[in-house]
Amino acid sequence: MIEHREQMLLVISGPSGTGKGTLASMLLKEDPSFAFSISATTRPRRDYEEEGVHYFFISEEKFDALLRQGEFLEHAEVHGHRYGTLKSQVRSLMDQGRNVLLDIDTQGARQVLQNAPDCVSVFIAPPSFGALRERLEGRNTDGPDEIARRVSYAHEEVRHIRMYEYAVVNDDLQTAFSQLKSIVEAEKQSTARYMPEVGEE
Ligand code: ADP
Ligand code: 5GP
Repeated sequence: MIEHREQMLLVISGPSGTGKGTLASMLLKEDPSFAFSISATTRPRRDYEEEGVHYFFISEEKFDALLRQGEFLEHAEVHGHRYGTLKSQVRSLMDQGRNVLLDIDTQGARQVLQNAPDCVSVFIAPPSFGALRERLEGRNTDGPDEIARRVSYAHEEVRHIRMYEYAVVNDDLQTAFSQLKSIVEAEKQSTARYMPEVGEE
């Protein structure tokens, strides 16, 4: 059987603290066909984050220069900092035959849905805003003001759920992961990107 597969651009969005990063690492660990698109950001690096692993941490000036050079597939200002997906990142991972995972906000997702309508988009929702706040507090990476800002923006983000093809509520982590995997497995078999050739013998 000869099979042709085209790569998938998987966009996941959801409020900060919902568990996107957690679900993304589970998917990347379990499914080697996926690679993470490392974004550029002007946000300061958190202690546990590594340059070129979690993000490319860049200055405002560098961000402006990349923007002028048309290097971003999408970009947005989120929680007072700028974030952008580098076209070069996505292109080089796709050239390696990998499916590419983007963890981006709703403004960025809107741009990707316009520019790459064949992408697969999944909104990850928290079970409640209270649970979201607890997760942000438990993660211990942001102070009270920043947490308040992220929870407030979460109310705005959930209004955009219908823009996405799929939604997953991350209440029980294993259930959410299994739902995300089901979406990915079904999309791998979509004839939009999977073309089996049926031979005579
Ligand atoms: P995001 O990438 O969406 O900002 P994270 O993946 O960093 O979110 O998760 C935020 C916090 O919530 C982390 O401390 C993580 O361990 C925790 N978390 C993730 N999923 C769940 C879940 N289903 N139930 C409880 N806590 C969770
Ligand atoms: P954090 O600062 O917690 O890492 O991310 C904050 C928000 O920025 C999250 O909603 C995350 O999805 C989003 N984000 C991360 N990278 C990008 C990007 O390249 N583009 C856009 N539009 N959003 C991003």
